[in-house]
Amino acid sequence: MKKIGIIGCGFSGTMVAVHLINKSKDPIELVMIDPSSSIGRGIAYAPYSSKHLLNVITEKMSAFKKSTDHFLDWVMQQKAFQDTDRNILAQSFLPRQLYGSYLDSVWKDATEDAKSKHIKITHLQHKITDIEFVEQGIKLHLAESDSILVSHCVIATGNHQPGNLKISNTAFYESEFYYQNPWNEEAVSNLESTLPVFIIGNGLTMVDTIIGLHEKGFTNEIYSISTNGFNILPHRHTGVLYKKLIEELPKETTLLGILSLFNKHLKKIRKFGLSAEPIIDSIRPFTQKIWQSLSEKEKKVFMSKLRHLWGVARHRIPLHIHDYMQQLRITQKLHIIAGTLIDIEENESFCYVNFYDKKQNIERRIKVGRVINCTGPETNLQKLQHHFLKKALNKGIVTQDVLNIGINADPITFEVINKDAQNLNHLFTLGGNLKGVLWESTAVNELRDQAERLALHILEMK
Ligand SMILES: Cc1cc2nc3c(=O)[nH]c(=O)nc-3n(C[C@H](O)[C@H](O)[C@H](O)COP(=O)(O)OP(=O)(O)OC[C@H]3O[C@@H](n4cnc5c(N)ncnc54)[C@H](O)[C@@H]3O)c2cc1C
Repeated sequence: MKKIGIIGCGFSGTMVAVHLINKSKDPIELVMIDPSSSIGRGIAYAPYSSKHLLNVITEKMSAFKKSTDHFLDWVMQQKAFQDTDRNILAQSFLPRQLYGSYLDSVWKDATEDAKSKHIKITHLQHKITDIEFVEQGIKLHLAESDSILVSHCVIATGNHQPGNLKISNTAFYESEFYYQNPWNEEAVSNLESTLPVFIIGNGLTMVDTIIGLHEKGFTNEIYSISTNGFNILPHRHTGVLYKKLIEELPKETTLLGILSLFNKHLKKIRKFGLSAEPIIDSIRPFTQKIWQSLSEKEKKVFMSKLRHLWGVARHRIPLHIHDYMQQLRITQKLHIIAGTLIDIEENESFCYVNFYDKKQNIERRIKVGRVINCTGPETNLQKLQHHFLKKALNKGIVTQDVLNIGINADPITFEVINKDAQNLNHLFTLGGNLKGVLWESTAVNELRDQAERLALHILEMK
């Protein structure tokens, strides 16, 4: 009998389990391992604030690829939304907490199904500290020097907390003024100082953090630094379907080829007062294929020259949240800086942040009461702190892709590739760990498909 260990019970790991249960015809056993008490929510769908919204509209957030209205139908059944217009709900950005409740219900249904099929599910509220191949299967070591043996293992570890940026005074990262995990409510809580808050990073998590700080009563200035200081874009043209670029996309292409195609179409739509988003959205379903066709050199060029631009175009926020951010900038409550962090010094009741301001071409120093890291999940396994994946990397069980932004794996079978370039046919990964292999491997619409395909693959294995 297959005994499948799933390390990480966020959206990815949970949806693999859901499909294993739904599609299994033979008896299987599932061992779900995650330090969190909940199954399904992970980092994204267990936010501390109900004001933290999905960045994708309701009608595109079904957990099931083949049942596109699943989330929308579920929302319509909830008391609070029964009188709301279905079309409005379909196009709106609902709270991520609500999405977490939806995933709770998906998991509850799956566990009922499992009972009727006599599938045993164990939830170990633990952290995996090491993995090891032994004669009988894969040994998963738990934090308390205990271990469990499984026949198949899915690594669904998703979003790691952000890595620390290089500064001279690394001791600062132990300071009480520093918050490395922006998704933890602590990062915005108990702020007694009236000094500004300094946020490293200028993306969606920065926006959530500002909302969190305001919710806790913080009203003073906020500084945010990022390499380019780009403006976060709002979702402006939802519903505009642009197909022209994709119709012209050749089977074989280069980074330069896509860029010139993109620029050609951007010029065209700008004449009608539109911006790049409909083009970006039209490319989205093809990005994995395009990424896989690029050479190593092209991928590196993309990472150094275009990654940030793509990120801004891709990660947009609801219009009303964008208006809120703009208002903060106009009233000088939010300062977005393009630049680089130099150092941070800690004092008794505050800290000094030294940074280079690209726009003003000068080094600046500001006095702040707190520093919050919103640079996004760390993707280089070598930089993870005390994580079994770092050990697995050092042992050669897993390897990194050429860009060191994920785990090297087969994008069809999800099998992890070891240091001898062999597919490990009982060890799998998906989600954010496939970033280097697929580039876009983050959002629900990508993960739900991966989870279903991986579950089918495991069930079909001899
Ligand atoms: C703040 C945020 C908001 C987002 N909003 C959206 C959105 O609105 N729409 C969208 O489509 N996508 C969104 N995303 C993208 C998001 O990454 C995916 O939608 C999805 O939540 C990822 O799920 P996951 O299971 O792969 O990872 P995670 O949710 O990160 O789950 C990974 C799990 O692995 C566990 N884990 C890690 N290490 C170990 C270990 N050693 N042992 C055991 N367990 C371990 C963690 O505890 C965690 O629960 C968001 C991402 C973030 C970070």
